[in-house]
Amino acid sequence: MEKIILIKYGELTTKKANRNLFISKIYEQMKDLLVNYDVKIIKNRVRMFIEVKDNEIDEIVNIVKNIFGIHRIVIAYKVKTDISEIESNVLNIASNTDFNTFKVETDRADKSFPISSMDFSKRIGGLILKNIEGKTVDVHNPDYLMKIEIREDYTYIYSKEIEGLGGYPVGIAGKGLLMLSGGIDSPVAGYMAMKRGIKLECIYFESPPHTSPAAKEKVKKLVSILNNYQSSIKLHVINFTEIQEAIYKNMNPEYMITIMRRMMYRISEKVMRERNCLVLVNGESVGQVASQTLTSMQVINSVTNIPVIRPVACLDKLEIIDIAKKINTYETSILPYEDCCTIFLPKHPVINPKIDKAIEYESCIDYEEMINRAIKNREVINIELNKKEFNF
Ligand code: ATP
Ligand code: MG
Repeated sequence: MEKIILIKYGELTTKKANRNLFISKIYEQMKDLLVNYDVKIIKNRVRMFIEVKDNEIDEIVNIVKNIFGIHRIVIAYKVKTDISEIESNVLNIASNTDFNTFKVETDRADKSFPISSMDFSKRIGGLILKNIEGKTVDVHNPDYLMKIEIREDYTYIYSKEIEGLGGYPVGIAGKGLLMLSGGIDSPVAGYMAMKRGIKLECIYFESPPHTSPAAKEKVKKLVSILNNYQSSIKLHVINFTEIQEAIYKNMNPEYMITIMRRMMYRISEKVMRERNCLVLVNGESVGQVASQTLTSMQVINSVTNIPVIRPVACLDKLEIIDIAKKINTYETSILPYEDCCTIFLPKHPVINPKIDKAIEYESCIDYEEMINRAIKNREVINIELNKKEFNF
């Protein structure tokens, strides 16, 4: 009996007009991720099938589990759509499965099949009862739920369904630029944005020698973990030292963080436009620190009118940590390297900054020129997923 991996699409099946595009995005990503495997991928409007070697099934399920847009993954037996063929295979499968109580559920997707779903379930149930000893039917809480999906040429028999991540396939929404620090919040924000179909590039601000090469390595490591969902991510590393030192030397300490963040937004907007990204994404969370009060956000955000998505804005820190653990970024995020936001940290950052004051303070430095220089001299690193050694 041939085993096959069957993919059920997620939310996307409701968006009929875009369906083909959605499916081909998933298909392209799957082909790319499985480039080193000997597989055949077949797609149609409702399902995708991966024909694989038996001994590679679990490995491949683990890989495709990270593709957004997939709702469920099933390891199924594939048999010809023919009543006696289905019946003999069902008996074979059931005799090799350990259970006392069971239930059969049929989905007759091919309406030309002569028996209704309900009748076919009854018939298969009867067949199992008659041929295998000691089994009883329990329709409410069976040990073993046998599902039979009847399609035109083939029928799929399976039991366990593995939850996929849901969401939309990465790239379907366009590109976004993620402001990625080494902290806990921004990688989670990036993950959530990718889940809505946004393909990411990342921007990281460093201030050498005040921030160390280890801090940058940490950010690269975070990008490589996010690569599990996107395969390849461009990281723009901005040298922020000149700007930060100018702020430090010339400004009211209370406003240092506010102005520093206004500079980050200005730079991010320019990089974003240059890279044809449609939004900025960051890990700000309402009220978490002084620069994330609503007044602060307003003063900071007012340097631009591009859309900014803050996926974790309304999550508690503990909720963010839960996701960080789930996606494997947490352990890296808590490594104790300094961030450029934490050096030169004033004792009392302003909680309710005034926009005219921010403008007044920052006007004493020639930031436009510094910004353009930082962008021009940035380092761009292409970080690729190692498809020979997945790191889940
Ligand atoms: P995180 O845990 O993601 O570091 P945080 O709670 O420490 O966030 P802040 O340091 O105030 O918060 O930063 C808020 C957001 O601004 C970050 O989530 C990130 O999106 C962006 N950001 C902060 N520092 C940097 C940096 N050095 N490079 C790029 N983006 C940054
Ligand atoms: Mg931070």
